[in-house]
Amino acid sequence: MNKSNNVQKKKYASSYIYAVIVAVLVIACAVTIALVNKGPSKSNVANIGGENIPVAAKPSYVLPMNGAQVMKDYSGKELQYNDTLKQWEIHKAIDFQAGEDKNVYAISNGTISNIYTNYLEGTVIEISHGNGLLSVYKSLDKEVQVSIGDSVSAGQVIGVVAESMAQELNSGNHLHFEMLQDGKKIDPNNYLSLGEK
Ligand SMILES: [Zn+2]
Repeated sequence: MNKSNNVQKKKYASSYIYAVIVAVLVIACAVTIALVNKGPSKSNVANIGGENIPVAAKPSYVLPMNGAQVMKDYSGKELQYNDTLKQWEIHKAIDFQAGEDKNVYAISNGTISNIYTNYLEGTVIEISHGNGLLSVYKSLDKEVQVSIGDSVSAGQVIGVVAESMAQELNSGNHLHFEMLQDGKKIDPNNYLSLGEK
């Protein structure tokens, strides 16, 4: 009789422990959901143009050149004069005129998805940043510092600028910088903070 009572007690005790464990798990889940829904804390907010923008979830972007001047800005529709080809054209890219620092930097973390050289574009490096976002660096010296498949981090030197891009030869040592989303050229100004131009 005693023995069976003990078994009953043990059964009761173990089901009680399970109930406590389940309760703790439920509370832990609730707390986690509450924290996630709360979003980024104040310290992860950047004040950009008077607006508080959460930066925790977004990858950061740096400029592809250091101390460079924007010599030709992005234009999706407006024609700009190409001094080399002597023609007006749209320019879905930003051209950076190199200052003393001729290094070209990865604008964000990613993987080198392509490197090639041709007459019109010079040496070109493409970086895939995931989710269909590409950054493309043209008019580089053919001695690049990365290989296809390499992982790169924001601000890492990938090569140096040159005058290798025949269709913009008269622009001298410069970087022709493009960004693409799902294969379509987009305005890099949406990612880079260039300040005054
Ligand atoms: Zn250009």
